[in-house]
Amino acid sequence: MATTTAEFRIAQQRKLTGAFPGPKSQELAARRSRIISAGVSSTLPVYVEDADGGIIVDVDGNQLIDMGSGIAVTTVGASHPKVAAAVAAQTQRFNHTCFMITPYAGYVELAEKIAQLAPGEHEKRVAFFNSGSEAVENAVKVARVATGRSAVVAFDHAYHGRTNLTMGLTAKAAPYKKGMGPTAPEIYRIPMSYPYREENPNISGKEAAERAILTMEKQIGGEEIAAIIIEPIQGEGGFILPAEGFLPRIAEWAKEQGIVFIADEVQSGFCRTGEWFASQHEGVVPDIMTMAKGIAGGMPLSGIVGRADILDKVHAGGLGGTYGGNPVAVAAALAAIEVMEEEGLNEKARVMEKKFFDTLLPLQKEVQTVGDVRGRGAMLAIEFVKAGGKEPDAELTKKIAADCLAEGIVILTCGTFGNVIRLLPPLVMTEELFEEALTVLVDVIRKNS
Ligand SMILES: *Cc1c(COP(=O)(O)O)cnc(C)c1O
Repeated sequence: MATTTAEFRIAQQRKLTGAFPGPKSQELAARRSRIISAGVSSTLPVYVEDADGGIIVDVDGNQLIDMGSGIAVTTVGASHPKVAAAVAAQTQRFNHTCFMITPYAGYVELAEKIAQLAPGEHEKRVAFFNSGSEAVENAVKVARVATGRSAVVAFDHAYHGRTNLTMGLTAKAAPYKKGMGPTAPEIYRIPMSYPYREENPNISGKEAAERAILTMEKQIGGEEIAAIIIEPIQGEGGFILPAEGFLPRIAEWAKEQGIVFIADEVQSGFCRTGEWFASQHEGVVPDIMTMAKGIAGGMPLSGIVGRADILDKVHAGGLGGTYGGNPVAVAAALAAIEVMEEEGLNEKARVMEKKFFDTLLPLQKEVQTVGDVRGRGAMLAIEFVKAGGKEPDAELTKKIAADCLAEGIVILTCGTFGNVIRLLPPLVMTEELFEEALTVLVDVIRKNS
């Protein structure tokens, strides 16, 4: 992995200054507890002062290695100079006009770029919004208009957001839905392909797809379904990669039934998995794709891209929003995508993948609590279990994440059973830093085994 062409402002080094969290973070935590809603929680007890490349600096001068990218957002780093310059230049001209009132070129230019990067040779249309949830909501609205149907199908372990419609699409009850219903009607949940936890370990991706299809046929009926939405690699649900053949078969069946196949690439898009979009690993061409997170170097932006014949079925004024495709966020996205191309971030993700498996697969043989090791590109995961079986071990997972943090490594957990450590490093991270983080992680896993 070549070091990135970007000059880092902050030395790419881990550094712990003593008490952790330090006094300034502790003081902020005390203020926070008196003013911020208890419903908003944070993984880390430290407050950020600065961030660049693979390093986050806290208010007490600790330097942490970032293995989370603010949940797959800062793919090009949290302050890439090209993104910062694009934002500065745009903000000196105009921060907002509202694309629905007085449009601007950046929105069109970014849409053209995304249509070019998204899978499929068909004519495409694009629309921009602010958050991943909003992109998902709009994809569903489009699918309903285009098909004249209302049912929406989502999978076990799915995560699609926290707004009312998307929390209904999300599988996990606590904390995402607990006490917050009713959720939207006409949402159906069907079985996912989860190779590590299949009752029949030999079930193929195609067979798992047939199981899902049978469920849809029996419980809903293909002709009632407007959309099937799926993350090509599931994110919050546990970084689950469906068995090979699963996605293509579901997409094929959707086509046969006139169902809009929506790939939710909010987490897996923009070089994260070593391709522009995770759908590309199996040559799947979604009818609509949602995107957000990694798209704009940290600025809030989301969008949908899809078949022109589907997106253009929506009447004028049917899609939009005050801030959707904000000019500053759009400028950041154009710069971030340029960085991804110039710095070869797909290739960097693939190099990280190789290092991860070279390190973790031997460990899996050695340590019984390392149940499964999986992922693509720099969307990588370790599933922890009780020794000797497959019973999820959320406590151990939490302990490993906490021990890593105490060593100055920011690591996130996920999974329906809370027993998955996930790695989502910024792709501009230096080789040395990535290796150091893996070394610490492996040591922590060994110590806890
Ligand atoms: C994060 C995420 C969302 C929701 O995005 P927000 O910007 O948090 O609303 C939707 N789908 C997937 C796959 C995600 O990972």
